[in-house]
Amino acid sequence: MPESVPQAVALPLAAGFLAHIGPAATWLPVVRRHLSPRLAGVGHPRHVALTFDDGPDPVSTPRFLDALDGLGARATFFVLGDAVVRHPGVVRETVRRGHEVAVHGWSHDRPWLPTPARDVRALRRAVEAVQDVTGAAPRWYRPPYGILTSGRWAAARAAGLRPVLWTAWGRDWTATASPASVRGTVEAGLGGGGTVLLHDTDRTAAPGSWRATLGALPDLVADWRAAGWTVGPLADHGTADRHATAPRVLGRAGAVPRRPPEQGRSRHG
Ligand SMILES: [Zn+2]
Repeated sequence: MPESVPQAVALPLAAGFLAHIGPAATWLPVVRRHLSPRLAGVGHPRHVALTFDDGPDPVSTPRFLDALDGLGARATFFVLGDAVVRHPGVVRETVRRGHEVAVHGWSHDRPWLPTPARDVRALRRAVEAVQDVTGAAPRWYRPPYGILTSGRWAAARAAGLRPVLWTAWGRDWTATASPASVRGTVEAGLGGGGTVLLHDTDRTAAPGSWRATLGALPDLVADWRAAGWTVGPLADHGTADRHATAPRVLGRAGAVPRRPPEQGRSRHG
């Protein structure tokens, strides 16, 4: 029967699609919550890991390095290989200031189709770019948009990288982001032991959006320290399998919208 042909073809196709895209749903908070806490970025309950994606950017990244110096805080920067080779000095300065450099990918693309061989090549290239500039092998990998496909997962393992996502973000890539909105959004979803996703560039965001992130940093760090949490890079975050404490609002009473991050539209990483 002719009808049986599409069915026979569709089954392996569907299985292949699920194998590719199934793990990719990690950008969904509801999925991420049920993943390994290690993958979600849950660490020591009295530590907050501060992470920035999408750099290096010669315009904005130095502003973040100065701000973090002023705050006495260190962070992890997930960089893109194609920007590392264009702006190696920014990456060297990031390391010189005591920060950790990790891999966000070679370019900021979306994995619409399985491309396992290309994934391996791209990640190896990004690792080499970071290693050439910093002299050290990067340890962490966070895929663009938080979409961790099976191919990207395998490529990360092959490149010696450990995938890590985030437990709270600032939605700091939008045109309407403000220091207050970034602070409120991060803190609505953050508990001790959490990993915070922010961006030190507008490369894949609304132009100038990094200014909202930069403006939110002093209050965020002050709030976390007031809660008794230490702020630092993923290297200092602890690696045990443990659950973050329940999200709590750290800002002034009534000043922070109590909106769980899963209600926000997810698109970034
Ligand atoms: Zn990104």
